[in-house]
Amino acid sequence: MVFLPKIEPDRAIPIRTRFAPSPNGALHVGHAFSALCAHDFAHAHGGQYLLRIEDIDGTRSRPEHVAGILTDLAWLNLSPDGPVGYQSGHIERYQAALQKLLSLGLLYKCSCTRGDILAALKQMPVPHGPDGPHYPGTCRNRTGEPSGPFCWRIDMAKALAMTGPFQWTDLVAGTNFADPMQFGDVIVWRKDAPASYHLAATVDDAADGITHVVRGLDLFAYTAIHRLLQILLDLPEPQYWHHPLLLDMGGQKLAKSKSSPPLSARRLAGEDGQLLIDNLRQGVLPLGISLSSA
Ligand code: GLU
Repeated sequence: MVFLPKIEPDRAIPIRTRFAPSPNGALHVGHAFSALCAHDFAHAHGGQYLLRIEDIDGTRSRPEHVAGILTDLAWLNLSPDGPVGYQSGHIERYQAALQKLLSLGLLYKCSCTRGDILAALKQMPVPHGPDGPHYPGTCRNRTGEPSGPFCWRIDMAKALAMTGPFQWTDLVAGTNFADPMQFGDVIVWRKDAPASYHLAATVDDAADGITHVVRGLDLFAYTAIHRLLQILLDLPEPQYWHHPLLLDMGGQKLAKSKSSPPLSARRLAGEDGQLLIDNLRQGVLPLGISLSSA
């Protein structure tokens, strides 16, 4: 594949990658590209490529999208090399990680609703990060139990005081100073679903023996949070390759919620999935689609 970064493989540890879609919509060609990157990176080094369905968001995950993902990957000839993992079957893993973070004294209960947060933000200036304004900290020093449902947030300043500064390395972008503080006190355990994406993905990557996390550049900044969790939970550090994104005609990343046609539409129209993949491998993109620069 023309986009693969060069690496010096560590022969002692066989490479293992994963493609980790959330079944909250149909896959599009950007997902096909992401799965291809993970697949070809592993296979170029005699490794294994796994599929993990990130289906713990009970309000957005749909069984028909899980079925669609499996059918689309088979059509693309990118079926995984091992059994499919389902995050909904890993809740105990996440609970154990939550307990460990609780024992470090880094979490607090937050019962704020979206409305509470918006009201608090009107009262006080807070830093803005890649995901918007930071949580204003209303519940950080609250005494007593919350009266309603709550999530667990990590006290980011406290966590960073415990870890000290740290770095992480991307195979293309190189070594980065990790700055999880840019996200503020993120949620690690949700009110409405079990673990947050950050906790679940970090725990699963370690439990599944993922040596190389291959995923889109849109998730680059989150890796700082994942590295923090790895340090706090004493998990191994994988290597990262954040691949470029496929963009639509307006230069926006393809997204399930936008107008990019799902892979199933191509499949049902009789398109050849193998040809689509062979073209992507050579850097030949479908009409109207371009690749982000970095
Ligand atoms: N489930 C995430 C998504 O569909 C990807 C998670 C990851 O690769 O770390 O965007």
